[in-house]
Amino acid sequence: MAQTPNVIALAVMQRLKETGEAPTPENYQRVYYEIAGVQAGPPEAAEGAQNNTFCLELLKTLREMVQDMSEKTESLAKDLGEKNKDLSGNVDSLKHSRDKAEILRLLGLVVSQAGGIQNRVEASHRELVETRHALVSIQSELSETRQLLNEDALTGALNRRGLDQVLEREVARCQRNKARLSLAMVDLDHFKKINDTYGHAVGDQMLVHFTSLIRSVLRKSDALVRYGGEEFILVLPETDLRGAMLVLGRLQQVMRKSPLVSEGRTIHATFSAGVSALREEDNGHSLLRRADETLYQAKNAGRDRIITLA
Ligand code: GH3
Ligand code: MG
Ligand code: MG
Repeated sequence: MAQTPNVIALAVMQRLKETGEAPTPENYQRVYYEIAGVQAGPPEAAEGAQNNTFCLELLKTLREMVQDMSEKTESLAKDLGEKNKDLSGNVDSLKHSRDKAEILRLLGLVVSQAGGIQNRVEASHRELVETRHALVSIQSELSETRQLLNEDALTGALNRRGLDQVLEREVARCQRNKARLSLAMVDLDHFKKINDTYGHAVGDQMLVHFTSLIRSVLRKSDALVRYGGEEFILVLPETDLRGAMLVLGRLQQVMRKSPLVSEGRTIHATFSAGVSALREEDNGHSLLRRADETLYQAKNAGRDRIITLA
């Protein structure tokens, strides 16, 4: 079932109530991550830390708003109960009264009490509508933040946090279904030289260009992760080593055909890749380690090549 942030937020409140934990922002965030399936591990980069702080602030605001709303609703119910009791008492007296002056006095009272109730309900309604609008905007900010937490800002590829989730999910799924799964670790060759020759900004352009070329050879069900500076991981479900070789071969071809063009300069780049395929006894970590080892072999063997290891 799709989890929207407000559904998660409600589940968090419920869980904290059940476990008897204090609804501190820290507890709130921890349980939020557990339920949302996002790992709360230590942020790796300043950007991650910023996102975490932002997320924490939002969750704190959300918790305060829900608390405030529940207090207001409680006070409204109490207030309306008391006002209603007064009103009923006066309506009762009105029914039994025979004295014209008394009837008029009671009528005046009933009208003003009914008006008071109406004003109270209208004011509460306005407050609840405002709170609802604020919650809707928090909801959209939270879903953006949730995405940002898993994405690399420069290339839009998944980051390591995203990789952990994808690997865990795909390895379990493919082992359960006895399906194939390949993983490619891809690293641009002599990238430092591109930075040194053309400048860091052009280096960044190359990274963005490279990711868009990778995307052009991937399927929708594949995942692309920025693992390090100029190192990427391709997670290829339902793909054996031969299939992975085909994908990377296509990437080599498009790289040759589509160099980066920046300020009139044409900049060619190559990459090396190591590919591993899922074994029965594998977990995400061992699959990743074998791809890393084969990438190392590809670099040692002279770069601009793809090496596979079952
Ligand atoms: P190799 O073929 O062995 O992989 O050599 P390389 O030069 O690609 O690898 P090395 O690890 O020596 O250098 C990687 C460089 O990538 C160094 C670092 O400054 C640069 N880098 C890392 N992240 C970024 C980034 O986000 N933008 C830019 N422009 N450069 C980056
Ligand atoms: Mg490199
Ligand atoms: Mg590298």
